[in-house]
Amino acid sequence: MGQILDGKRIAESLRATVARAAADFTDRMGRPPGLEVVLVGEDPASSVYVRNKARACEAAGIRGVVHTLPASTSEQALIARVHALNEQPNVDGILVQLPVPAHIEADRVFDAVDAAKDVDGFHPLNAGLLFEGRAGLVPCTPWGCMRLLDAAQIEVAGKHAVVVGRSNIVGKPAAMLLLQRSATVTMAHSKTRNLPALCRDADILIAAVGRPEMIRGDWIKPGAVVLDVGINRNDESKLVGDVAFAEALEVAAFVTPVPGGVGPMTIACLLENTVRAAWMRAGLPPSELKL
Ligand code: NDP
Repeated sequence: MGQILDGKRIAESLRATVARAAADFTDRMGRPPGLEVVLVGEDPASSVYVRNKARACEAAGIRGVVHTLPASTSEQALIARVHALNEQPNVDGILVQLPVPAHIEADRVFDAVDAAKDVDGFHPLNAGLLFEGRAGLVPCTPWGCMRLLDAAQIEVAGKHAVVVGRSNIVGKPAAMLLLQRSATVTMAHSKTRNLPALCRDADILIAAVGRPEMIRGDWIKPGAVVLDVGINRNDESKLVGDVAFAEALEVAAFVTPVPGGVGPMTIACLLENTVRAAWMRAGLPPSELKL
């Protein structure tokens, strides 16, 4: 029987660390770090996420502002709003909540965000820095996965890590971060052949697919570490991950639950990125940032 990797508890500890760093920034600069979240439309799940992010900011001593724009907002108007936030000196982080309405090309919006304020880590400059293994702002969910591995003191170097899902926001950056830490990384996706056998070879398995409980217990290597990024509703409308949790727990050494695993880490890492962005923009010495 494996252990539950309690993301909620680990995220609380990270949030406390971030709050101390935010207070340090406020003392030095005479203003708190600032995050602006832009929500287009009224998608109920997105509204909840945005509200949670604003609340988390407040608790960490970060100034969080939410801009809610109508679903009919044009791409041009959204980009103009982003440009305006780029110009505001007290704004350290800009986040455009996904999904955006279908008439807006998300990539063009990400391209418009000042890379120094790109707390989601989706700007091509930050993606490129991650690819090259250089310092930049890293997407929050994969960064949260790395922090979970660290909190559980899991050695990454030399391990076989399988990442299922290759999106720009989770799968690809997760694979890059694991590679940076010297894992041997396999990226899997919808065209991958014999996925169960591939997963069974993983010492570290990251599931970022978006299919309820697709990964079964008999896909998992005994003693593996399983990080479940997926957030799905099953047939009974219950929130579940991409991994069959109870089955996985029978086989793996560690499994993250859904909810309460990777999700809370994503928000904590967003706060971390906001303080990091504020610190760097202010030209404060990186060595004095206690994150
Ligand atoms: P995307 O839909 O962008 O990507 C899904 C990936 O899964 C694709 O690469 C796709 O492959 C792959 N895939 C789909 N079906 C299969 C299959 N049958 N076998 C193997 N691979 C498959 O999703 P995201 O990366 O944005 O999100 C993934 C999940 O994580 C979702 O449930 C989302 O809600 C959740 N999420 C959770 C976060 C958190 O904070 N916990 C944050 C962000 C996302 P292909 O490329 O070939 O189509």
